[in-house]
Amino acid sequence: PQLANQIAAGEVVERPASVVKELVENSLDAGATRIDIDIDKGGSKLIRIRDNGAGIAKEELALALSRHATSKVHTLDDLEAILSFGFRGEALASISSVSRLTLTSKTAEQSEAWQAYAEGSQMEVKVTPAAHPQGSTIEVVDLFFNTPARRRFLKSDKTEFTHIDEWLKRIAIARRDIHFVLTHNGKVIRQYRPANTEIQSQQRLAQICGRAFADQALSIACEHDGLSLSGYLQSPHDRVITDTSYFYVNGRLVRDRLVNHAVKQAFAEQGVEHQPGYVLMLTLDPHQVDVNVHPAKHEVRFHQSRYVHDFILQAIQSALSQMPA
Ligand code: ADP
Ligand code: MG
Repeated sequence: PQLANQIAAGEVVERPASVVKELVENSLDAGATRIDIDIDKGGSKLIRIRDNGAGIAKEELALALSRHATSKVHTLDDLEAILSFGFRGEALASISSVSRLTLTSKTAEQSEAWQAYAEGSQMEVKVTPAAHPQGSTIEVVDLFFNTPARRRFLKSDKTEFTHIDEWLKRIAIARRDIHFVLTHNGKVIRQYRPANTEIQSQQRLAQICGRAFADQALSIACEHDGLSLSGYLQSPHDRVITDTSYFYVNGRLVRDRLVNHAVKQAFAEQGVEHQPGYVLMLTLDPHQVDVNVHPAKHEVRFHQSRYVHDFILQAIQSALSQMPA
């Protein structure tokens, strides 16, 4: 089973940023409102994620580390209508197979916290009492210590940290309700405070996409027949080249040419030839989209992609037409 986990790890755990992604998504799935991310040496020495979510019960700690153990999908129908980030039960097993992983957690019902430890190839999990407030801390030490080829493939600490920082930006902009704190080598690098008002929300947008983008961006909020699109579009008057092109489907950041195409087309109709920046969130019935098409879940497949494309196009056209000249 350990070899299978390491092979799966090859698909899920490419670098420290992919570990951070999986762990933060677990925290979000657990309903956390505050997530602290501590990184040492670009993540190759330490990745520690601490959340105030629901926690994991003592009896489930060892299970959480085993392969295909997920608490999120129970039936085939659940798999066809996924709203959580996780659904394969692969991340913790994969990460623990290529690192020294400690999981400490406390649920609201338990009076004390418990800790589980798994190390590389010895898949025996030890559970011991610990001190921890409600929520979970996952500590990943010495990533790839037992897969030297993979370890050598890591770039400099600075580059690996940049990947983590960039990924967190994308999540922090979609989840402006969550308090995120990112540290590197003991120093706070990012502090994203929860945004509960429109002004705070604008502040976070400015913090991540820059003042110019935030000040001039057009807001989008459009709904039709079970589809909803919200977010921000770079103003056609703002000619700054930006690489902000973030698209989320039911809260999941995805790569999809469909939205790029729709944005480009709507702007071309206005005589704007360059690629504008955008932060767009699409929400639709989870039955209408397949998220289980890529190991790292970066891609989705819409059942009615033409329909979704046209909806996005119209939402953007209408935002552009309402823009003051
Ligand atoms: P998946 O997210 O696909 O279910 P994971 O391997 O990422 O699989 O996690 C396994 C299980 O461990 C989850 O289904 C969940 O029950 C539990 N879990 C992991 N991280 C957390 C967390 N931060 N808070 C609460 N539960 C967690
Ligand atoms: Mg997960």
